[in-house]
Amino acid sequence: MTRLFGTNGIRGVVNKDMNSELAMGIGKAWGTLLKQTIIHPKCAIGTDARLSNHMLKSAITAGLLSTGCDVCDTGMLPTPTLQYTVKEKQFDAGVIITASHNPPQFNGIKGVASDGTELSKDVEEAIEKIYFSQHFSLAEWGCVGAFSTWDGAIDLYIKGILSTIDTTCIKKQRFHVVLDCGNGVGSLVAPLLLKKLGCTVTELNCTPDGTFPGRHSEPIPENLTELMENVPEANASFGVGQDGDADRAIFVDERGKYIWGDKSLSLVGKYITRDLKGGLTVTPVTTSTCFEDVISKNAGSVVYTKVGSPIVARVMMEKHAVFGGEENGGLIFPGFQYCRDAGMSLAKILEILAKEKKPLSELIAEIPLYELVKTKIVCPNEKKQLVMNQVAEQMQHNKDLSRIDRTDGVKLYLKDGWVLMRPSGTEPIFRVYVEAKEKTRAEQLTIFYKNLVNSLIQHA
Ligand code: MG
Repeated sequence: MTRLFGTNGIRGVVNKDMNSELAMGIGKAWGTLLKQTIIHPKCAIGTDARLSNHMLKSAITAGLLSTGCDVCDTGMLPTPTLQYTVKEKQFDAGVIITASHNPPQFNGIKGVASDGTELSKDVEEAIEKIYFSQHFSLAEWGCVGAFSTWDGAIDLYIKGILSTIDTTCIKKQRFHVVLDCGNGVGSLVAPLLLKKLGCTVTELNCTPDGTFPGRHSEPIPENLTELMENVPEANASFGVGQDGDADRAIFVDERGKYIWGDKSLSLVGKYITRDLKGGLTVTPVTTSTCFEDVISKNAGSVVYTKVGSPIVARVMMEKHAVFGGEENGGLIFPGFQYCRDAGMSLAKILEILAKEKKPLSELIAEIPLYELVKTKIVCPNEKKQLVMNQVAEQMQHNKDLSRIDRTDGVKLYLKDGWVLMRPSGTEPIFRVYVEAKEKTRAEQLTIFYKNLVNSLIQHA
């Protein structure tokens, strides 16, 4: 069966692979599935700021209504805001129309379960199966779903965040924050949230605009140069940049230095496990060792998963984790909800700064430093499995090897670092990650393992 759902829902270029027929079909298929277990399902729907949001929202809404599901339109909002709404307002399902940080010509459909988490692979596959079979159970004329709108989601979400953090402590500090929402839907939440926390806000690109006129949407260093320049100029406490649907937040210290997601993840993990005197945390195998270092120091533990935030969130739920997230700025706060959440990340960083009374650069300098090199190698899809098995086999005899992990690809734990070779799910490439204490060592290992994998590919 052809797969529609990828790591983060269904994505594609508008009116090419992401069109209204597909959206309506997904609506019908999902509605059919929901009706199998729920008599009168209620779904919440929302969108990011992309130009095709109404087109896709209307189509998927029509599909859901045709099967007898009620649909409540919550308007334009961040993904975590919709997720929180589904959980708190007891919807049976949620849909967010977003392509996250992808270029403006893209859009996507992401499904949310009744507990606010992203849909599990099983549910996605069940939707796909119905979609391809075209066996939709359409409602009788008098039983089609009812449509309503609700504009209280953002207010509900902000109130929810404020109830989980120490607002008094934050307000006292009168922080000045430079905020770059990249014209994404974080613009509808973050400025308001910061003002409620007594912060002075310098706004960059804080008008939602689906053409992304200010900068590219992904919060990587090359896209946050304006933010990095503005923070020291404004004499601000720190800066924060979000992606298009505001589930990821990246921070910039008071000197304008970009903080990698591993570091902010570790910083938050450090204070959560310190306050709880331990606890289990969850992160994918791609995360830097600095995370495990700070967690172990607080008597906490780390469970590593495959790459993908829905996987991290589900493992966190199963194992009652106290914290988790990805190394790309996607932090998950289980006390609030099981999904990546830029609004909650921002509030938590403010709380840590307020309590520690140290500049962000100083707090980050306390996190152990590692050099992580990320690169890729071209490899035909049909050779991937064989090459990975051969790498694992050859490495058995390497005297530097302490352990091989097969959670996602092959991860080799060496005496002075680790190497991860992960086949891409969508492209004919291996992603190669190498981490060591010294930069030269990381580069040396990268060359060695790239050569090894290349020669295995040639002979496979
Ligand atoms: Mg996103």
